[in-house]
Amino acid sequence: MLDLLALAHSSSDRVELDQARMGRVSRGDALLQQSMAKAGHSRTEDRLIQVRQALKRIERDEYGDCLHCFKAISVERLQLAPETPLCIECQAQIEG
Ligand SMILES: [Zn+2]
Repeated sequence: MLDLLALAHSSSDRVELDQARMGRVSRGDALLQQSMAKAGHSRTEDRLIQVRQALKRIERDEYGDCLHCFKAISVERLQLAPETPLCIECQAQIEG
């Protein structure tokens, strides 16, 4: 989970460096880049919130149970996305 935080930091640093290095970009490109950077940032924040919530569930010994149907989330899924609050079936339902 700390790796994830480090990754989030390094990737947002890289966006700023790229923008600084570009120097002369058209206004449209700059705006596009800015909105993409913002979108990336909010996804990162969402993920950080999920990580924090996962840590709380570990403290309460509830970690690994789906918040929606209360069944155990598969180990394979937890290995891929340790912060996930939902089992694969409920996630698929929400995403439609
Ligand atoms: Zn579920």
